[in-house]
Amino acid sequence: MSERLKLKTDTLVGFIAVHALALLALLPWYFSWTGVVIFTLGLYIFGVLGINIGFHRLLTHRAFSCPLWLEHTLAILGTSCLQFSPAFWVAIHRRHHHYADEEPDPHSPIKGFLWAHFEWLLVRAPDMKPGPMTDRYARDLLRDPLYAKLERRKNWMKVRLAFFFAGFGYILVRGGSFIEAFQFGSSLFIWGGPLRTVVVWHSTWAVNSVTHIWGYRSYNTPDDSRNNPLIGLLAWGEGWHNNHHADPTSARHGHKWWEIDLSWNTIQLLMLLGLATKVSMPSPNLAATYPKTKTP
Ligand SMILES: [Zn+2]
Ligand SMILES: [Zn+2]
Repeated sequence: MSERLKLKTDTLVGFIAVHALALLALLPWYFSWTGVVIFTLGLYIFGVLGINIGFHRLLTHRAFSCPLWLEHTLAILGTSCLQFSPAFWVAIHRRHHHYADEEPDPHSPIKGFLWAHFEWLLVRAPDMKPGPMTDRYARDLLRDPLYAKLERRKNWMKVRLAFFFAGFGYILVRGGSFIEAFQFGSSLFIWGGPLRTVVVWHSTWAVNSVTHIWGYRSYNTPDDSRNNPLIGLLAWGEGWHNNHHADPTSARHGHKWWEIDLSWNTIQLLMLLGLATKVSMPSPNLAATYPKTKTP
C-alpha cells in the first residue's frame, strides 16, 4: 500500500461488522422463510434495480431514458446498497471506464485481485475525494436537487440506515410474545439487511476484480475486461464485462443469445410498459472496431 494512502478505519470496521452480522444467517435461530423471501426479493430490488440498472446502466451510462420519478426510485434503491451515493458511485465508475486498467483506474487488478475486489475501498486516496471526483465526473448528476442533497452531510447513508433497520418494524406490528416478534424481526433484519448487502457487495466487487482477470474476450478492447459466465449469472448480466467495455452505453450487456442478461430483460420489461425509452442497443460495428483475438 502506498504511503500516501491512509486506511479508512471506519470503513474497515463497517465491512467487518456487516459481514459478521451476515454470518448470523447461518444460525437456525435467525432463519425464517419470510427472511429468505425478503433476501431474494432484496437481491433483485436493491441489487438489480438499484445498482445494475439504476446506478450503472442508467445514471452512469445513460443507456436508456425513463420518467424522473422512476430514475429517482432506482437511485434510492441503489443508495440503500451501501455502495456510496449515486453521484460518487457514478464518478468512480466513469473514471474506471476512462482509465480502465491504467494507473488512475480506481480498482484495476493490475494492483492485485484483492485491491480490485475491496482493498481500494479501504484507503483514503488523495485523488479520490468525493467533492473533486463528482465535480470532475458526475456534474450532470449534481444538477439534480435529489442527488445533490444525498451528497450533503452523508444523507445517502441515512437513507441506507433507514432501510437497514426496517426489518425490526415488524416487532411493533406482529402479535405473539415479544421474544417471538424479536426473533422474527431479527430474521428479516439479518436476511434482508446484512446478508443481502454482503451478497450484492461481492457481486459488484467481482465485476471489478474477476471480470478484469478471468473469462473470454469477444472484443479486443484496450483494457483487460473479460466476459465471465459465472459472474454473468451471479451479477445478473453485469459479468459480460468485455462486451460492456466495448460498448459502454448499450443497455444490453449480453450480446450472444446464451449470454443471459437478466438486467437487460428487466429493461425490456420497462420498454414493454412504456417506462424505458431511447434504449441504446449494441453497436453493429463492434466486431470491426475491436477485431477478435485469442485470449492470452
Ligand atoms: Zn471494467
Ligand atoms: Zn460501466
